Amino acid sequence: MRKTLFESLIHSPLTEPAPSPDDAALAEVAGAVNLAARRRLGRSLSIRAIDAGSCNGCELEIQALSNAFYDLERFGLRFVASPRHADVLLVTGPVTKNMREALERTYRATPDPKWVVALGDCAADGGVFAGSYACIGAVSSVIPVDLHIRGCPPSPTQILKGLLALLQ
Ligand code: SF4
Repeated sequence: MRKTLFESLIHSPLTEPAPSPDDAALAEVAGAVNLAARRRLGRSLSIRAIDAGSCNGCELEIQALSNAFYDLERFGLRFVASPRHADVLLVTGPVTKNMREALERTYRATPDPKWVVALGDCAADGGVFAGSYACIGAVSSVIPVDLHIRGCPPSPTQILKGLLALLQ
């Protein structure tokens, strides 16, 4: 115990430094998404996130969009709790057999016009879970998909760029 305590005093922390914030680029992309949403919808974009069976890595990146660093809501984009209020369904993970019906029902509950974004490699083709007995696979095999954002997981900036491409 004394040895561990001593080592912790003389060694530097083992955590990695945080990535440097590229706030200007982020603000530009988020602002462009908001502008495109207002042109297309006449208001800001509402997003409903759906975890169809992911490892939660993609969810961490989605949640990062709402933290104090990215603070997506300052650009008017917001996450909503109900699919009835959503323009975009942001679906993560390979669709598991248990989540198939919930995903279909959520899709049906979302009013038109709506877009579906498959987020992450798992949502695109099953990713590392492809072939699992518990998974159906790609989101597109259950509901129509308008856009794939690849990555394992995609970064918050990549997610914003994907949403921008969707609206344009
Ligand atoms: S794409 Fe990667 S981070 Fe996202 S759910 Fe699949 S394994 Fe997890």
